[in-house]
Amino acid sequence: MLPSTYVADVEKSMRYAQEREQRIVFNSFNVTVDGDHRDHKVGYDHGHWTCDCEGFEHHGHCPHTMTMERVLGETVTMGEISAPVA
Ligand SMILES: [Zn+2]
Repeated sequence: MLPSTYVADVEKSMRYAQEREQRIVFNSFNVTVDGDHRDHKVGYDHGHWTCDCEGFEHHGHCPHTMTMERVLGETVTMGEISAPVA
């Protein structure tokens, strides 16, 4: 039989996961997105996205940051997109 503290933790985690919009704020993370031509390093830091691809550099958005927005959905607080580096 599982210890009661474990069961309580699981129950709490299920409730937290259901209330993810109120419970979870992404502060920062880094991921690698495997693009069609090469890997791209995508970063997120307190509402600011970054990517090492040319498209992001020129337009301030790209398929790689948008992919992560789709994947994370409502769990990530969407910040403004970082201004492209001149
Ligand atoms: Zn990109």
